[in-house]
Amino acid sequence: MEKDLLKVIHFQAMEEYPDECCGVILGNLNNSAEDIVFRCSNIQNQLHAKDPENFSRDAKTAFTIDPKDLLAIEKKTRTRGWSIKTFYHSHPEHDAYFSDEDKKMALSEWGEPWYPDATHLVVSVYNGVIKDQALFAWDPESKMFKEQPKKSIQFNS
Ligand SMILES: [Zn+2]
Repeated sequence: MEKDLLKVIHFQAMEEYPDECCGVILGNLNNSAEDIVFRCSNIQNQLHAKDPENFSRDAKTAFTIDPKDLLAIEKKTRTRGWSIKTFYHSHPEHDAYFSDEDKKMALSEWGEPWYPDATHLVVSVYNGVIKDQALFAWDPESKMFKEQPKKSIQFNS
């Protein structure tokens, strides 16, 4: 993963703190030169305000990508032949782990990932400052998300 992209994501994570931020990295699967960060809106606070029973968490501990952003991503990937390479979100006041909730969102009811080729980046933010990050990829053998070596985040994968 390119350092410049990571910087953009870190900036967003600090800007939206103490809420979780979210977004995706889009690009050509065979060539990372075109990769871009597509920043998404976390609409979790609106969902929580409207329907606290079904959405018990607010944006401090959860995220939902704005459906408008999902449509825009769909359009971009279709017209440019791009893929979603990475989903990212932040964990304010929590460590950089892939939570049960994160796994649930990434998997279909059959336990298969919606996007088997996409990685998941989680950025930990404490007191508004980036503390840690971790990258997870689907392992079809064990049918689990596995943390990738730390160095795969700093440099181009
Ligand atoms: Zn999470």
